[in-house]
Amino acid sequence: MQTYPNVHLFINGEWCRAMGGETIPVIDPATEEAIGMVAHARKADLDLALEASEQGFRNWRDTSAFERSKLMRKAADILRSRIEAIAWLMTREQGKPIAQSKTEIINAADTIDWFAEEARRTYGQMIPARFGGAQQMAIKFPVGPVAAFTPWNFPINQIVRKLSAALSTGCSIIIKAPEETPASPAELIRAFADAGIPEGVINLVYGTPAEISEYLIPHPVIRKISFTGSTPVGKHLASLAGKHMKRATMELGGHAPVIIFDDADLERAMEVTSMAKFRNAGQVCTAPTRFLAQDGIADRFMDGFVKSAQAIRVGNGLEEGVTMGPLANDRRISAMEDMIQDAVSKGATLKTGGKRIGNKGYFFEPTVLADVPPSAKMMNDEPFGPIAIVNRFSHFDDAIAEANRLPVGLGSYAFTRSAKTAHDLSRRIEAGMLTINHNGFGLPEVPFGGIKDSGYGTEGGSEAVETYLETRFISQMS
Ligand code: NAD
Repeated sequence: MQTYPNVHLFINGEWCRAMGGETIPVIDPATEEAIGMVAHARKADLDLALEASEQGFRNWRDTSAFERSKLMRKAADILRSRIEAIAWLMTREQGKPIAQSKTEIINAADTIDWFAEEARRTYGQMIPARFGGAQQMAIKFPVGPVAAFTPWNFPINQIVRKLSAALSTGCSIIIKAPEETPASPAELIRAFADAGIPEGVINLVYGTPAEISEYLIPHPVIRKISFTGSTPVGKHLASLAGKHMKRATMELGGHAPVIIFDDADLERAMEVTSMAKFRNAGQVCTAPTRFLAQDGIADRFMDGFVKSAQAIRVGNGLEEGVTMGPLANDRRISAMEDMIQDAVSKGATLKTGGKRIGNKGYFFEPTVLADVPPSAKMMNDEPFGPIAIVNRFSHFDDAIAEANRLPVGLGSYAFTRSAKTAHDLSRRIEAGMLTINHNGFGLPEVPFGGIKDSGYGTEGGSEAVETYLETRFISQMS
């Protein structure tokens, strides 16, 4: 029988308790039981991690790209071989159905492999010289030790993109992983430790997020910041990074519009969006949120979408057949209740759901609301839960105006059979990512990131590698 462990810090190649002996309890969101403890790092632990990451960087930077790539692939294979045990930990601490935990781990291993290949392609450039006998070179150099801050919704995948890009380029990293879901991220790091990652290259800490970020970001050892989380926190960390002239990648909140045109394949639109909306109980930064259905298709879409929401089986993610687990923490329950109450009081119609299920575990009904006015909180703030807003529109320009109304621009979805509509959308939607007639987000080889208040810098594809590299110019005459 598998048991949930007490989770330690990983500093300079060692699993260790926090020096002060402090811990934070970990709660199973399906039962509200305390299932374990995670070590709480303070400044003395962070100092050790900083020293280790500085030394680790010197070593890893000088390890050949070929060797780095080989080690990363070995870690990916180890991760795959432990999928059952790690998925169990992830579901216990985060709540998502076990099948979704497994998918997350498989995707993480793929991501490591993809970045391992990119490690061997961080090409520079030879620039034809003006002066005879001169050689001009632009070379790529790893930026240095990275501080990464990641949230609880995808305990492994939020880390693995930052970690893999950093390692592929020769950077070391200190990861502040989520305190609410600490065990599965620790297993990701264990796969690298067991693959033979040199000491100090990866350091893993947990603690008080603001205390850690305010210490690490200004610290002279740290050269790059990567954060995933809400827009307000991202703005705060980006300003701190700016003040200390540190590079930053910010993957922040979204509020994805989903535009369903009259000419859409209705079955497909319902299937894709229902899956995307309720995956991980809606706690996904690219989750479809503001559905805009064109007049001619809106009633049929609403009927079908409500039926698919009602068919979702909510329960403990470890149980067979469960398709939606609990929300990750009690804060999400009160956030859902507040937003629904606010929308209904402003004239929205509750089509299905709307309530917490039971009083043990953070279960919430898959919820659909119609005719939600723009003044409702949920039309402006990311619900980050199992709430779908389905409103109507008549003309293309109205849909675009609503889609672009908010200051955020992360994911967006559209369903249409018209090539012209698809083309116009790709030029007019203000979002970092647009997927048409399917859900194509989040693969290792494609960009992942937002524009406007959703942040900057991408976490996928070859551009993600660039954000961990700096260009240095060398001109040489014999
Ligand atoms: P929160 O804003 O307190 O925390 C969100 C994440 O940011 C957590 O991982 C937290 O550890 C981290 N964080 C908070 N303050 C920090 C700081 N000063 N320095 C470093 N890290 C810090 O709220 P929450 O209740 O955990 O989540 C609420 C909102 O956060 C959601 O509604 C959603 O908008 C956003 N969120 C986004 C993502 C994402 O994938 N983009 C993931 C989780 C949460």
